[in-house]
Amino acid sequence: MTEPIAKLSFWGVRGSTPTVDPATWRYGGNTPCLELIAPDGTQFILDCGTGLRMLGSRWAAPNSGKAPETHILVTHYHWDHIQGIPFFSPLYAENNEFHFYSFRSRFLGRDSLKQVFETQMALPYFPVNVSAMNAKRKFKEMDGGDSFKVGKNKVTARWLNHPQGCLGFRIETPAGTVTYATDNEPGDPQLDESLLELAAGSDILINDAQFTPEQLATKRKGWGHSSWLEGAKLARQAGAKTLVLFHHDPDSTDRMVDSILRQAREEFASVYAASEGMVITLGAPGDRVQAHLPGTRTALRREAQFHAKVCGVTEGGKDFEEETIVRDISLQGALISLKHLPRLQSELQVIMEAPGPDGVQAMNLRGYVVRIDAGPEKGHVAVGVVFTD
Ligand SMILES: [Zn+2]
Ligand SMILES: [Zn+2]
Repeated sequence: MTEPIAKLSFWGVRGSTPTVDPATWRYGGNTPCLELIAPDGTQFILDCGTGLRMLGSRWAAPNSGKAPETHILVTHYHWDHIQGIPFFSPLYAENNEFHFYSFRSRFLGRDSLKQVFETQMALPYFPVNVSAMNAKRKFKEMDGGDSFKVGKNKVTARWLNHPQGCLGFRIETPAGTVTYATDNEPGDPQLDESLLELAAGSDILINDAQFTPEQLATKRKGWGHSSWLEGAKLARQAGAKTLVLFHHDPDSTDRMVDSILRQAREEFASVYAASEGMVITLGAPGDRVQAHLPGTRTALRREAQFHAKVCGVTEGGKDFEEETIVRDISLQGALISLKHLPRLQSELQVIMEAPGPDGVQAMNLRGYVVRIDAGPEKGHVAVGVVFTD
């Protein structure tokens, strides 16, 4: 019997507004959009930020396999969660069918999300109006506390603490449970309790981590967001297995997110910082988390033979040092064969011996672990790193 496996993909992880600043490329600049494929093939899309465009452009790709049904859950109507809708190409193809879920906003009334579609594409904001969208669209209103089933999967919604309202979603699949709680500010006892129930026992808890604990206590109080520290507390109280820090501030550089992640890992055992292109599989033996970088970023690779000394942190949190040979390198990163299993999204120091004008010189590089695969040599893993300076 094969294990049921669910696949969670991160298409957009940035909060508030997209960023194209090179200092943010490692975690990514697209606004919220996640995709969860349940073991029965049901496709869930969480939020419609600019990451949705990327998902749409992969729609027809070979092996992406069109899902039997697509259910799109929209947490709320702030720009960063809806701005990908007009750019989602599958909405323009008449053979597609989508089920949308969101709440009735008191500012919009009935059919809130339908109105959002029409208003976003009204003249002169967009070159064509909503009638150009030929896909079948069904809209369903959800309220905090509501739940429904699709196949063998159960979706539950709860209110979060955010200006003009926001829903958190819990999706239970036969492979595991994912709770999506973005755009939430802790501090309202009733809503905090409700979120704790929503997240109880989740395999993956995706939590708003836009601000630092200091910002949250002072000048960003009341803005409707959370911090890594609150996320770690919630994960611990809810008995969640893995915490994913999400909705990175547009002003947070990759270095700042690295530091946020490092601090969170001191508070909670299993934490990742959401990064564009990251894929988490649930229900697979060993619960492996995989992160991928888009192909173009690892292109222009060259085969090489550099002796290197690598220092880093193992999956279990221990420091290690080992000698190896780097055989595959580009200006941006390298594929390194190691006996130790480093932690995903941790830093590796790579000291390579490179021939220079004055003989062999040591080149000291800082790498960031983006993927880990079984290595070609027995007892080794192939570790993909990107160089960060
Ligand atoms: Zn947001
Ligand atoms: Zn918001």
